[in-house]
Amino acid sequence: MVTTAITAMKIKKGADYQGLKREMWFAIGVALSIINGYGYKFVLTCGTDSHTTGLHPKGFAVDIRTRHIPLATETLIYNDLQTRLEAMGFDVVYREPNRPRHLHIEYDSKPGEQFIEEVD
Ligand SMILES: [Zn+2]
Repeated sequence: MVTTAITAMKIKKGADYQGLKREMWFAIGVALSIINGYGYKFVLTCGTDSHTTGLHPKGFAVDIRTRHIPLATETLIYNDLQTRLEAMGFDVVYREPNRPRHLHIEYDSKPGEQFIEEVD
């Protein structure tokens, strides 16, 4: 894995990120680190905007651009994200039909998945 310095977080103009929940900022940081690690630019393309249903308007979903990333690398990134995020309650989706290429990450914890565990 290539280590590159993280610069300013890149967010598409018009994407609304003000209402994103803390869980999503964690997932964004993980995704940014992974995507930069493969040598590609991280771009958040959608936060609470552009959707009227689902978890985007509630601040529990983000979309990340992948059109500049080769498909094989996108699959590796997807697998890395799943490995690191799913047990904490996130779902990662890619290759949605009829949409520009992107990764969708949402926080939707199920029994046995936990974002925060308080310990002594
Ligand atoms: Zn989405």
